Amino acid sequence: MPIWLSSINEVYKKDITLLRILVILIVFQVASSVKVPLYNESRLPTTITPFHYDIRLITYLDSPSNLRYHGSVNISLHAQKYTNQLVLHVGNVFVEAQKIRLHGEASDYQLMNVMFNKDRANMVLTFDKSLRMGKSYILTIAFGRSMSKEKKDGYFVLHYVNARTSEKIWYSVSHFDRNLIRNTMPSFDEPALRATFNVTMGHHRRFQSYSNMNVRAVLPNHELQDYVWSVHEVTPLMPTHLLALSVNNFTCRFTQAASAYPVRFRTCSKSADVRETSFAAEVAPQLLTFLDELLQVRLPLDKIDQLVVDNFPSSAVEQLGLVVYRSKEILKREDGPMTRTKMQALQLIAHEMAHMWFGNLMGIDWWSDLWLKEGLTGYFEALAVDHLQPGMGRRLLLRHREMAFMYESQVAGMSLVPLFPPASPESEEHLYQKAASLMGMVNGFLGNATFYDGLQRHLWQNSFASSSPDLFWRSLQLASERESFETKNWNVKGIMDTWIMQKGYPLVTVIRKGS
Ligand SMILES: [Zn+2]
Repeated sequence: MPIWLSSINEVYKKDITLLRILVILIVFQVASSVKVPLYNESRLPTTITPFHYDIRLITYLDSPSNLRYHGSVNISLHAQKYTNQLVLHVGNVFVEAQKIRLHGEASDYQLMNVMFNKDRANMVLTFDKSLRMGKSYILTIAFGRSMSKEKKDGYFVLHYVNARTSEKIWYSVSHFDRNLIRNTMPSFDEPALRATFNVTMGHHRRFQSYSNMNVRAVLPNHELQDYVWSVHEVTPLMPTHLLALSVNNFTCRFTQAASAYPVRFRTCSKSADVRETSFAAEVAPQLLTFLDELLQVRLPLDKIDQLVVDNFPSSAVEQLGLVVYRSKEILKREDGPMTRTKMQALQLIAHEMAHMWFGNLMGIDWWSDLWLKEGLTGYFEALAVDHLQPGMGRRLLLRHREMAFMYESQVAGMSLVPLFPPASPESEEHLYQKAASLMGMVNGFLGNATFYDGLQRHLWQNSFASSSPDLFWRSLQLASERESFETKNWNVKGIMDTWIMQKGYPLVTVIRKGS
């Protein structure tokens, strides 16, 4: 366990000493009576499920030498079984062990032991008595850290230079996908564990707070001059990796999707870039409207923020209600010709908009099913691109298929599962391309009526939850069987499993005889 402590000794040096003593004290107290092994499984136990996070987090961006945050989280839990242990994720973040509390409906629980597993980024909390099956509890943990530019921290800082004053302006942004929130705060960080999130962000009044949902109130901070609390609306059910946090002083453009349920867009960047955000601001609502009409499944959102930041570690990351783009890829003006780089920006925006349904509204149980959400996203990205640039989406799908074939012939085949963690960024890119091509193929052989009937029902049934390949094939199979006038008896799972589970692709050789 002390190994974990040594990994964070660059932060909060004074407090670390205190924490080290306290944690050692806690372990020492029970060492003679309680022997707690490390939790060494890759998945969390199913004894506990979280259903709500109440997060209060304050970010300090004023002093470049002391950029930091701290906060506390109340996690509401259901006990699925009798247990006196909670196992949750915690990585490279400072946790105040002495402030960990567990409240039950009838009584409070005393923490007896904290055991950290650095390799698995988890901690086991052992309490003095057992949680009762079927009952709810609230786990309270305080956390914090100094902030760096490292993406692996989950919640990190970036900066720009004010051209007029030459001042460096620091701002914060999160990138939790796929398992980085554990380096920001303790959490049950698995894609199937959906919960609602109530986010309250503390920050200097010259900044604004951004998260998945709108700010519903800005309240004064009575303990810290010039600081305020931005209280965000509660999110729908979503997994931890979709949580989004940012504190910045960006300038925004406002546009709106003309869908049946209007979604307002805010596209925000440093003020020097705001003229160059017009393309993203204008096309994102059009793409969302197209997908909304095509899918006929309502999103649980009335706003989507698009943050455009310099030196973001990925080209983009989609979170429910908040997408972050790297400025290099996205800063384009709406007017002028459709250049190749503008086309790539359109693809990127279409991809992130499609993720609002595939990945966000309906997720996956585990990362081995990544191809399912990326395949559906990639396919609908192409359809949305085709809507705004007729013919281009079709060419995009064709290119995906050719690239997938070419890659597979070079690496002697690639199945889509299991592939987490992916062998390389290159193989992951090809996973996206192959999976999108296969979605086009299944749409092709089932026909639009069957495919969309099955897909829409699948989305309705699995909104705010997880899908799996077997569930998806089953939905398409049932849709196929409902088409009573058709005599085709597709075995959708039987057909698709061969493409998904096996490496390579069928090679049909045709030899012409005669002239
Ligand atoms: Zn994606």
